[in-house]
Amino acid sequence: MTALPGRRAVRCGTLFDGTGAGPIRDAVVIIEGERIVAAGPAATTVVPAGADVVDLGRRFVMPGLIDAHTHASIVPGLGNQVGQLCQPIAPQALRAASNLRRNLAAGTTTMRLMAEEHFLDVDLREAIETGVIPGPRLLVATRGITASNGHGRALSSFDGVDEIRRGVRENFQRGADHVKLFTTGGVSSTSTNLHGSVYSREEIRAAVEEAHRVGKYAAAHAHGGLGLRLAVEEGVSTIEHGALTTDDDIALMKERDVWLVSTLSILFHPTGIEQGDAGRPAIMQKVREAREVVQRNFPRHLSSGVRFAVGTDSMHGLMPFELEMLVRFGVSTRDALLAGTRSGAEACRVDREVGTIEAGKRADLIAVDGDPLADITALRRVTQVMKDGVLYDGSGGRNGS
Ligand SMILES: [Zn+2]
Repeated sequence: MTALPGRRAVRCGTLFDGTGAGPIRDAVVIIEGERIVAAGPAATTVVPAGADVVDLGRRFVMPGLIDAHTHASIVPGLGNQVGQLCQPIAPQALRAASNLRRNLAAGTTTMRLMAEEHFLDVDLREAIETGVIPGPRLLVATRGITASNGHGRALSSFDGVDEIRRGVRENFQRGADHVKLFTTGGVSSTSTNLHGSVYSREEIRAAVEEAHRVGKYAAAHAHGGLGLRLAVEEGVSTIEHGALTTDDDIALMKERDVWLVSTLSILFHPTGIEQGDAGRPAIMQKVREAREVVQRNFPRHLSSGVRFAVGTDSMHGLMPFELEMLVRFGVSTRDALLAGTRSGAEACRVDREVGTIEAGKRADLIAVDGDPLADITALRRVTQVMKDGVLYDGSGGRNGS
């Protein structure tokens, strides 16, 4: 009997499907083309006659990772992130191609990009979808909506309700999936603070309205204080970073069903801001302060019931470290894996397509050497990555389907 084109059976040593169900020993995932058609115990899941078999019988298989907050072109360890965004398009595009390959090889199959210049992210998304370069599936913000004196201001800025409306509309016209706006300052810039709000309530509301009216949503870069409160009150769907969130902020976020997207590796990993901006005392001071507050508060926030997902914020290939940080802050290994898969998909509103290994979903899965439920650091050893049914090798190169 000849195999139906594109029909495959993936044998899994252990299957963690991301639905919240317990792991299944000796399982199988049936794939047809780019979709999953069945998944379950090998004993009860029918393997279609003639299907090609992908043998991951010695591996822990789980959904592809979802990096819910990152950028394609930035490398934090090089320093001056805004300066990187101000470069001409070619150096940014070359860096991005290399970064995207690295993320895919480390297990990330979906990335939500949170601002690029030159509409580079639209072209990257197209290049990946058409097979020009390997990379995760991209959800893009295009230009960040930030004020003239705001964090993240590179080439573009938007002041006043009218400019914000026009900026958001133009972003959508160019292909943006969501709005990224910056309300508070950031750790990696010198002239901003982490509590204030560069935008007025009316400006934030305008960005949110423009998104909602066309069925999209807004995400706010906000660390704490007024900028975070206004963003939550005016209807953003996700708070990005949230390093200085208080218990009251978390309570309000829970009440309004707002996600916390934590980005811990850029703050804590030695190759993050610590390396890139070591020579800038004003930034290093912010790093120290933010670390202290996060270490004190995040164990409480992460167990508060607020919904959370994670992003590397340009720490390419470090989703495993991001999940290790959650575990360090008291999250169970199971919940850390869910934060990096199903919850990421929900926060990015792509949970109908990805985030779990279930019939109907896209065939995005990774194989891990070891058991990340027993030791989260096993996730550093991703040996195979499948995206849309296509298997990639450890370098991010296509390995055939
Ligand atoms: Zn960011």
